[in-house]
Amino acid sequence: MELSALAKYPFLREASALIRSEGVTLEELLSEPAYARARALGRTRVHEALEKGPESPRVAIAPADQLSQLLAYPVARIVVSALGDTYLTRRFALREAIAAEGLLAQDSDDAILHVAAQLPMDLRREDGGFRIHFSDFLRFTNTMRDAPWKLINQPLERGYVTLRRQKALRVLRNAVQRHIEQGLPLPVNDDIVAAFKSDLSEIRGLLEAKKATFKAEDIGKVSITRFPPCMYNLLAQIQNHENVPHMGRFAIVAFLHHIGLGNEEIFRVFGDVPDFAADVTKYQIEHITGTSSPTEYTPPECATMKSYGICPGPDRICLTIKHPLSYYRIKGRERRPRGETVATAV
Ligand code: SF4
Repeated sequence: MELSALAKYPFLREASALIRSEGVTLEELLSEPAYARARALGRTRVHEALEKGPESPRVAIAPADQLSQLLAYPVARIVVSALGDTYLTRRFALREAIAAEGLLAQDSDDAILHVAAQLPMDLRREDGGFRIHFSDFLRFTNTMRDAPWKLINQPLERGYVTLRRQKALRVLRNAVQRHIEQGLPLPVNDDIVAAFKSDLSEIRGLLEAKKATFKAEDIGKVSITRFPPCMYNLLAQIQNHENVPHMGRFAIVAFLHHIGLGNEEIFRVFGDVPDFAADVTKYQIEHITGTSSPTEYTPPECATMKSYGICPGPDRICLTIKHPLSYYRIKGRERRPRGETVATAV
């Protein structure tokens, strides 16, 4: 791919190869005046991921700006890595993936196939659309649970699922998001932290402000500040309209139920999750909470959360517990004013 294309799809391996061939070192990228534009664009990428939301359009890349845009991507990855925040990482990956999906929608089928091959994804051309190997279809749609995405509802022939262009791009978006997320965080040294010191502190402030705006009222009477990191992240992903994997949805529903939310309140939390139909949501909530099933499920233990990759890493309290519900109870005890009894706390 040429520079013009790699500036649009900087997450491809070829983009790193091109940067290497240009002879740009990390030290130069961090400090040379020649790369000030790339650094500014990289910071902007992170700001936009945080402030504008994943769906906001990205401006077209002018030819003179292509190299800077290409270099802005590693700068943005460095900044995201230095901040080490799971919520920001996911938001960044989602925004980059949605931007790539939009750019690919205007690009040729060859470009789509080229990007898919590098992820890697077995995507091929099919009369007027594409076909994807069923294993890749399953792999990259496992967060999308409603009927149009179930394998059983797909036209399947000799192991391949036929997809219209738009649907193929949607699968590709998931693959790009996963590819970007899996590449983060990068190792970050003191030089990097020093080079972006003021940016890091500014973005950290924005990040805290953003998290503080999560609509606590949406989750009714419970206290969001007592949530363990895992449940906080799941809730953030839902409120950020990100796809949450099945185990994550199960965990947050069971958690919210056990800390005292009713089914209607839990349903409202899930109201905006993409690719998650209302009737499916309602059915799953009723099933997990024991309303329509003989079992009232409890959230998974920490060990299970870890094995599913939805534990963002323990904090001080996590190190002393084995179950996310214990976290909520301990936080409640820490925050409770003197004289308040256990019975008054959830
Ligand atoms: S250690 Fe347990 S409570 Fe803490 S974030 Fe991980 S899964 Fe959640």
